[in-house]
Amino acid sequence: MRVGVLGLQGDFREHLTVLRSLGVDARDVRTKEQLQELDGLIIPGGESTTIAYLLEKMGMLSALRERGAQGFPIYGTCAGMILLARELNDPYPENRIGLMDITVKRNAYGRQLDSFEVDLQIKHIGEFHAVFIRAPKIVRVGSEVEILAEHDGVPVLVRQKNLLASSFHPELTGDPRVHKYFLEMVARG
Ligand code: GLN
Repeated sequence: MRVGVLGLQGDFREHLTVLRSLGVDARDVRTKEQLQELDGLIIPGGESTTIAYLLEKMGMLSALRERGAQGFPIYGTCAGMILLARELNDPYPENRIGLMDITVKRNAYGRQLDSFEVDLQIKHIGEFHAVFIRAPKIVRVGSEVEILAEHDGVPVLVRQKNLLASSFHPELTGDPRVHKYFLEMVARG
């Protein structure tokens, strides 16, 4: 199984480390051609406007939209989740992959709470220590979206068929179980 991590900007190295610790052939992906060789892709946290700009510039945005719509597994963390969201309560980034039926508000957890850590209860996984950094908030989920975890009644880990998205950063805490969950999605194709 070959899984890519979008390496245009953001904390992609941490995702590669987690995937490699699980014995996965993990690749740092920066071109449209590299996308063809993958069984799944992680889009890391970072700055969603920057990642969206670079994705478009590299011709990868439409490629990802097409592949994602055909069942290619994509997991977006934080900024990656913003890129997957169909609707945004923010004018930017205008151009996104936009395949997941959720509405997301950027930087919505408040200035004084820019970053925080909580223990979540995740469906199929159990208790999970989660780190939020200037996290986007999911303010609406469509009927096809399964909520896998909530914090204060707000969804923070959601799945829609081949798409997975989290407001938090599972790559930062050394606990690989969310990545393992995504790898099972990839394995089932
Ligand atoms: N605030 C960032 C954005 O809007 C996301 C933060 C993150 O990825 N940690 O792109």
